Amino acid sequence: MRRFFVEEIRPNQGALLIRGSEAKHITTVLRMQPGDRLILMDRTGARYEAVIESVGRREVQVSLEKALAKPDSSPVEIILCQALIRSRLMDVVVQKTSELGINLIQPFVSEKTVVRPVKERTDKILRHWREIALNSATQSDRSQPADIRPLCNFKEVVEQWRGRDALKIILWEGERGRDLKTLLRSSHAASSVVGAVGPEGGFSREEVELAGRSGFVPVSLGGRTLRSETAAIAMVTILQYEWGDLSVKKPPSGGPAP
Ligand code: SAH
Repeated sequence: MRRFFVEEIRPNQGALLIRGSEAKHITTVLRMQPGDRLILMDRTGARYEAVIESVGRREVQVSLEKALAKPDSSPVEIILCQALIRSRLMDVVVQKTSELGINLIQPFVSEKTVVRPVKERTDKILRHWREIALNSATQSDRSQPADIRPLCNFKEVVEQWRGRDALKIILWEGERGRDLKTLLRSSHAASSVVGAVGPEGGFSREEVELAGRSGFVPVSLGGRTLRSETAAIAMVTILQYEWGDLSVKKPPSGGPAP
């Protein structure tokens, strides 16, 4: 059954009017008809099975039939602090890490950022990233889309997470002593991980030290220098694999298989 995000679903709300781009998608792209069934979700995690009652030019009237359980979220909350990279690659990072269950993305500009943000366009870009995150959440059946924060600078990133009770890591290709795999396997699983990934030009030594003073541990992903977007996707994958939910959830012992 197709899934759609809507603004808000209130408890005991029998009927709902879908407007905007979702309505357009349902009518003109998918050409769904009265009687067709779909799943509606909102950002709080509410989800309902619904049936289309009528289809208008700009809106779709549905009735909500039954509340559905939301899918389990990963045991580890993952926050990606991602240096701004070329726009096509940034889109890839937002899309792929969303599919992999990222909770929050904080884009930032740092000393060696090659791409310069155009101030007038920052709101538009943020909306664009949020749209990608929403589509990925729909596609990969997540209960909530990733939260994408407005662009800031690296110093603000470091300060923002300073007091946070989380494992904080900064991916640094210059790190020779500590790698992510060993670090994760030798620590107790944390409930939150904040990971910073640098731009095409990398982090400067000063930035790594600045982050270190706020509790960010420099880690390596091995001897190959990866592109920024590859490093981000690899980091989220590794975190979900080691501490998260890249596995099949077993039914309670003795219970039937789902
Ligand atoms: N300064 C480098 C490239 C930076 S790669 C150069 O031009 O040679 C972009 C970012 O990806 C880095 O800042 C880092 O955060 C991450 N990264 C890439 N390869 C990595 C590795 N092997 N270990 C840890 N981080 C890596």
